[in-house]
Amino acid sequence: MIPINQRLQKVSEYIQGQVLADIGSDHAFLPMYCLECGMIQQAIAGEVIVGPYNSAVKSVERHGYQHKVEIRLGDGLTILNPDKDIVDTVTICGMGGPLIARILTEGMAHIPNRPRLVLQSNIQSEPIRHFLQSNGYQIITETLIKERAHIYEIIVADPGVMSLSAKDFKFGPFLHVTPSDLFYEKWTRELEALEDIKRNLDPIKHQVRFDEIARQEKEIKEVLEPCN
Ligand code: SAM
Repeated sequence: MIPINQRLQKVSEYIQGQVLADIGSDHAFLPMYCLECGMIQQAIAGEVIVGPYNSAVKSVERHGYQHKVEIRLGDGLTILNPDKDIVDTVTICGMGGPLIARILTEGMAHIPNRPRLVLQSNIQSEPIRHFLQSNGYQIITETLIKERAHIYEIIVADPGVMSLSAKDFKFGPFLHVTPSDLFYEKWTRELEALEDIKRNLDPIKHQVRFDEIARQEKEIKEVLEPCN
């Protein structure tokens, strides 16, 4: 059995097609799990750092998936050959939103067939949603998952058109329209963190930062308490 956590198991539910590219794969648990469950036929796993790349190679050999998962060393989507590697889904998980958005921005030319994107960010998903809207992708669903006290966002996008509001970009078009308990927990925590920062700022000396935090707090409160 491939040891997979709840977060990656949730990500796997959105993977479609036969070939997966998992970018930033670390131990390659996600592609091996999908193969084990028969969800996919082949995978390419990318890693930019030699340590995790070596871990992925060893892990894939140990579980006997070396003929099904090809591990490649390189930055983001550039490990994919746009003429030869036709993948059905790309997963990018366990990173911050700005890094995921950068990987997509710099790598789109490597996925000309426009596969499904399943993107799991640890923090700041807003840049991901901006990227998707500007690059002909439409969010088809979003979800939150909590693991070891951390709340993660998963965004699933297919080729298409969307027109998000400022609120959608920040909070997620699916997440804020039907807010779950986890949504309230996540944004209540963010609000508390901002309040902590603000408490340590001098409103005169640090006026710009103070006002920016107050603006962000107002946005969050409007979503958490829409009727007030
Ligand atoms: N995807 C796995 C997961 O969600 O559990 C591993 C997450 S781990 C926190 C992030 C991995 O992404 C690291 O192994 C890191 O080396 C890799 N990574 C970071 N930037 C990358 C990039 N530009 N291209 C490929 N891999 C990258």
